[in-house]
Parts: sequence; structure tokens; C-alpha cells
Amino acid sequence: MKPFSALAGRRHPKMPKMPKMLKMLKMLAMLTILATTPGNLAALATPGRFAADLAPQIYDGPSTPGILDPLPPPHSPPLFPGVRSVLWVAAHPDDEVLVAPVLAKLCRLERLACHFLVLTRGEAGVCLRPEGCLPDLATVRTAEMQQAAALFGAELTLWTLPDGGGLSGWDAASGGHEALVTRLQNFLRGLAPDLILAFDPRHGATCHGDHQAAGELLLAARVRLDALPATFLLETRVEVTAAPPFIRFSPAADARAGTFGYPATPDIAGVPGTWSYSMAAARLHRSQFSAATVRALARRPGVERVVYLAPAEPVLADDSVATCP
Ligand SMILES: [Zn+2]
Repeated sequence: MKPFSALAGRRHPKMPKMPKMLKMLKMLAMLTILATTPGNLAALATPGRFAADLAPQIYDGPSTPGILDPLPPPHSPPLFPGVRSVLWVAAHPDDEVLVAPVLAKLCRLERLACHFLVLTRGEAGVCLRPEGCLPDLATVRTAEMQQAAALFGAELTLWTLPDGGGLSGWDAASGGHEALVTRLQNFLRGLAPDLILAFDPRHGATCHGDHQAAGELLLAARVRLDALPATFLLETRVEVTAAPPFIRFSPAADARAGTFGYPATPDIAGVPGTWSYSMAAARLHRSQFSAATVRALARRPGVERVVYLAPAEPVLADDSVATCP
């Protein structure tokens, strides 16, 4: 049997040679189809944008959410089949950086309806902006979070629980634990997302007490709902230091607990990777991320460009998941 390559391009012996004019018309028709397909139109307008992870060309300079549009149509298969709406529950403005590649995949590439709930305004954070953080850090970080939500095309709900308060501080500011859980329960019932992404309370990705509290609060409110929404917990373990700037990502749980990794690198021709959204989001939080830290993020090797997630039910019952000291 002849190999396929030998058969390719063979013309039937009786078939006449295609006249030159016909060939030209065929080529013209193909070009027209290419140019009128939205994703291809974008590719033609910005040569090379599908080549790989395009952070250097697209996201350098001032962060302008609108510059990311138009995005290619979702060629890659859905990460969560059947899901149309997503809620990310965070403790602080900037927490979405830790899960940015997945949010970009869901909210941008798949164009799902996304909503971010951020429980505090991050007023206890640092101020790394050279011009300072006037009138106050909460105001600055609120504006940064609004820009970051726009980057993902997500709606934003920003609560004003005390940053650094942990669950006890949040309870106290809410008139008690029951009042706080009920508030979140009502929020979830009103929004009714198909999918919730949240911190695992055992490690909160970075072992920040507020991250752990955000996970615990979400789980407490979620079990009160009549229909349990699909909930996946962030099982990425993030080690981060500001000076020297250092970031490392690793899985916090294993496959036995249902954990899988979403690789934020392009693996299908024509589908861009979403790792660049980590840097794009970090750049928007100028009060929290120095240029050196953003560079450290950009330098993560391919094997670390992964967001680990696990469905709440199996992973919460697993006792080998990372914990904090
Ligand atoms: Zn945080």
C-alpha cells in the first residue's frame, strides 16, 4: 500500500488540469472565507498574534483592558462543559491573579458570564505606587479591582469586610457569623452561578488567613443552597516573596483528590495561551505588584504555568491536601 503522502495531491488521470483562471478564483474565494471569519480577521489584522503566548507584544506598557479585544473565538473545548456562568470568590483585590489563566479561559476565550465577589477592599496591603496611594489604599485598590474585572469582562461585587480580619473580624463587622453567612447565602441565591471558583480553606493558595476565611465562608454559605452549584477549589500552592521577587507555583493536592491542572500554554494551533493574563492582571494592581514581581511571574517556566483545581466534594474529604503552619 502506498503511504498517504504519496497519494496526496494525486489527480485523477482523466481530470483535466485546472485552468489558471479557475485557480485564481479558487484562491480568491478561500481568502474571502478566511477574512470574514472573526478569529481569522483578527489574525490578519495583527500578524503573528496566534503564534504563542503573546504577553510581550500585547500587554506591555500601560494596562488597558480594552486593548485585549477582539479576542479569537473559542476554538478550544470548554473547560467545564455545560457551564454558562462563573463566580470567583476572593478575599482581596488582586487575588484573581492566582487564578487568572483559568478566568481568562472561561470569561474571555469561552465568553461565559463571569462575576467576581471580592470580600475586602485590601486596605491593609502595601502601597508600591511611586506616586503614593491617596486618598487611601482602599480607594486605590477598589479602582485597580474595577480595572482587573474589566480585563476579564467580569462583573464585580466588592464588599467592605475588614482586610486582615479573618473570619472572626468579618463576623464582628457583620453583626455575627450567622448574619455574614446569610448575607453570602443570599448573594449566591440571587446570582445563581453554574460554577463557583474559590480558595481551599486549608491553605488559601498562599496561606493568607483571609484567603482561608474566604474559602471557609463560601463553603458555609454554599451548603445552605437548595441546589448545590458546582464548586471547584483552587489547589495551586503559591510561594511568593516581594524582596527578592520570587514566585513559585505547585499543586497543593493530588489527582486522588480530584485535582487537575489547567495548562495556560497554547497546545492547539490558533488558540492562544492564557498565562499572559496573570501578568496583565498583576500590572493593573500597581499598588501591590512591583515591575520586578511581574517579571518574576512572566519568567515562570512552562511546567509552572498551570492552575490546579479540584471539585469541592472529593478534595475536601482528602487529608493529604497542603495545609499551613
Ligand atoms: Zn489576597
